[in-house]
Amino acid sequence: MSFESLGLRAELIRAVSEKGYNTPTPIQQQAIPLILEGRDIMGGAQTGTGKTAGFTLPMLERLMSTAKEYKGRRPLRALILTPTRELAAQVAESVDTYGRHLPLKSTVVFGGVSINPQKQKLIKGVDILIATPGRLLDHVGQRSVNLSQIDILVLDEADRMLDMGFIHDIKKVLALVPKQKQTLLFSATFSDEIKKLSNELLKSPALVEVARRNTASETVNQVVHPVDKARKRELLSFLIGSNNWKQVLVFNRTKHGANRLSEQLGKDGITAAAIHGNKSQGARTKALADFKAGKVRVLVATDIAARGIDIDQLPHVVNYELPNVAEDYVHRIGRTGRAGNEGEAMSLVCVDEHKLLKDIERLIKRDIPKTIISDFEPDPSIKAEPINQGRGRQQGARKPAGKRPPSGRNNPRSNFKSRSNNQSQSRRSTGQAQQRGR
Ligand code: AMP
Repeated sequence: MSFESLGLRAELIRAVSEKGYNTPTPIQQQAIPLILEGRDIMGGAQTGTGKTAGFTLPMLERLMSTAKEYKGRRPLRALILTPTRELAAQVAESVDTYGRHLPLKSTVVFGGVSINPQKQKLIKGVDILIATPGRLLDHVGQRSVNLSQIDILVLDEADRMLDMGFIHDIKKVLALVPKQKQTLLFSATFSDEIKKLSNELLKSPALVEVARRNTASETVNQVVHPVDKARKRELLSFLIGSNNWKQVLVFNRTKHGANRLSEQLGKDGITAAAIHGNKSQGARTKALADFKAGKVRVLVATDIAARGIDIDQLPHVVNYELPNVAEDYVHRIGRTGRAGNEGEAMSLVCVDEHKLLKDIERLIKRDIPKTIISDFEPDPSIKAEPINQGRGRQQGARKPAGKRPPSGRNNPRSNFKSRSNNQSQSRRSTGQAQQRGR
């Protein structure tokens, strides 16, 4: 099958072939014709499957075929919501690339950077907006964006948006867009919450699914290396050095742990950078650019910061620590083996993490092969200890916002005692908001 046979106009085909793509990926083959028909879509696609082009190409085609003559400022007609700044930037780059021969305008807004330049671009008028929910609502509040003429709404990585506690922000956005529109929802996993959201949001959606529900990418070789916690760093340096790996994405549970590991690798003579929610947007962008350009060999990331990282043919992903939530394992290893390339995902697992490993194996419905590296055999006398979540643990971001304790401002019964609780709650909320790209 070719892109020509999917019903896209010549300008889009040209942009795609300039990018070097000749054959649509399975998600593109399924989704493009349905989106062109105007159907709502429930897309079960992991990152790495080509889903971004799968919704962007038909979206651009439809915006072109339904364009009218606009007097004055052009209305905003397509909105793409993403959970993280990195994913927003990446989707915006795809929209630019695929739309480069079309007269449509797009822009991207996310938090962590000044709002004014974004406002100026919005006020001039754009057809397509890519946004993280928090910053989008900031713009709504400042009246720099009007969502009343949206024809196409895309929720990308919807499961992650819910995990990050965005449901209330999403509901606010939904109240501002027209009822009559086309909605495309993409999610790597299908929790009950996602099903509920899609029931509320989508009209007789077409289900497009390329990987089985909650299955780890088929093109990724997975392996577990059992090792003692205290020797993980040494093993990681050994694996990188002895295999001469040039580009390795390493996952850590906590921000503090990510910083410390990147410093320690530096001391071992391995160039590394850390990327997590406490770093400024500038520092995150630089770390990612240096990693992509091969200036640093190792990028140490937390789960939230790693969302949306797209590097062609990223060969190695290492779970330095297993994630607390089994679904995150699927997201993590989705960073390698992208678009049909072979990838390798290894997990350094200590005795404390055996339960987390079991949860993951249950989710992906298979056992991950275990290989002990000689000289790094785990000491059987070491007993499991509870896992230290670190400060600002990402688990916290998963608590649905509706179940949080009432804040002092809104709770008339709050007294001095509860205020101190509220203060720590509000500090935590600020941390979450930073992570979420406000
Ligand atoms: P995504 O799942 O959208 O993050 O895309 C994963 C990667 O596949 C990106 O690097 C895309 O540029 C690439 N890609 C998208 N469509 C194709 C295609 N038809 N052929 C080859 N690579 C593609």
